[in-house]
Amino acid sequence: MALEVYKFGGASVKDAPGVENVSHIIQSNQVEKLVVVVSATGKTTNALQQVVQDYFDKEKDPFVKLNEVKNDHLNLVKSLFPNNRAAVEDVMDAFVEIEWMLEDDQGDPYDYFYDQVVSVGEVVSSKIVQYYLNTLGLNAVWLDVRDVLLTDNTYREAKVDWKETERRIFQKCTVLFETHHIVVTQGFIGSSSENFTTTLGREGSDFSASIFAYCLSAKALTIWKDVAGVLTADPRLFQNPSKLDRLSYREAIEMTYYGAKVIHPKTIKPVQNKSIPLYVKSFKEPKALGTLIDEYVSESYPPIVVFEHAQCLLRIATRDFSFVAEEHLSLIFEKIAKHRVKVKMMKNTAVSFILSVDDDPIKVKALFEGLNAQFNVSKESGLELLTIRHYNEETIKSLTSSRVILFEERLPNTIQMVVKPIDTLKLKDEV
Ligand code: ASP
Repeated sequence: MALEVYKFGGASVKDAPGVENVSHIIQSNQVEKLVVVVSATGKTTNALQQVVQDYFDKEKDPFVKLNEVKNDHLNLVKSLFPNNRAAVEDVMDAFVEIEWMLEDDQGDPYDYFYDQVVSVGEVVSSKIVQYYLNTLGLNAVWLDVRDVLLTDNTYREAKVDWKETERRIFQKCTVLFETHHIVVTQGFIGSSSENFTTTLGREGSDFSASIFAYCLSAKALTIWKDVAGVLTADPRLFQNPSKLDRLSYREAIEMTYYGAKVIHPKTIKPVQNKSIPLYVKSFKEPKALGTLIDEYVSESYPPIVVFEHAQCLLRIATRDFSFVAEEHLSLIFEKIAKHRVKVKMMKNTAVSFILSVDDDPIKVKALFEGLNAQFNVSKESGLELLTIRHYNEETIKSLTSSRVILFEERLPNTIQMVVKPIDTLKLKDEV
């Protein structure tokens, strides 16, 4: 079937004009069969995360923040559907289940509880978009992604059961497209085999859209953003970066893995595996071309700069001056895997091993403690990982002049450096 997948992030549906704009993009593009994957509106996921935190800290009443989220959504649905009480009620009903959870004190584990509460953001936003498409006269149906996207029960970082998910998505969407043109569903969330809600990791809605594109062998996937496409640097950090018109899957996966925030790094593999073109376009300028990511390999790219903030360096040294040999390395990697720490750069010397990792305080602390029994470990946080693809000396110089380089690796077309800004030189942290 000639089918496409669109993904709209929180910024695109943050208010009533946003929902209207998204719906007009869908309406004007007239795709024969369209799956629309939606994130929670605006900053809803952060707010719901705060609700969970307040529930566990027991210092603040979690209902205060939850009521703010509910009120924002109530105002949104009332302004979008002033005459459709059923729609307003249906959207607001989605909050009831988490209210029950917040009233109870069942001693549920944090990650499990987090997924049950935070996921409601996507449930309500996708319902809102579906109702609005219906008010425009479009034939859209709402799909609960938890009926089709099966995961394991690693809450907050669930792994997809690809075989079953592919079977379910294909079967369900084939039936829905017999009577509808548009299927609206949620990004970010899935379901375990026990029917509990899971989430795929923050910013995971891009990945959800890519899963749908893969399972339905879509003709194209379009991710609608508030930027013109994939840029040569983050526009929040650099003035006037230029837009890349086209880039390869390989280039895109390298950029996003090392911190380019434009799309989630897990988005690339599913579309690459089926050669599905991935477009990154602006919902503010929907007619503009954006960036096309596909198999195309360019002869020459401009320098592409990616910063990953919140990095820390772990220096792991043997205690008795023995070499860092195979047994040590396998032990270190075993602990990294166990604590799910994300490694961005690494290097060994005769008696030490240096790692730059994402500074997730809980995971890094567990790794630090796990290694400290056997090695001397030190940790330095507050660092940045700077990656320059297709670098030239001028770009390196301009980016490193106000930074101290702590760790560097140069390959023919990529240079990576763990750096700290000069004005915030910090003493080593103890974990
Ligand atoms: N709403 C989720 C988040 O903010 C997922 C996403 O937007 O991709 O992380």
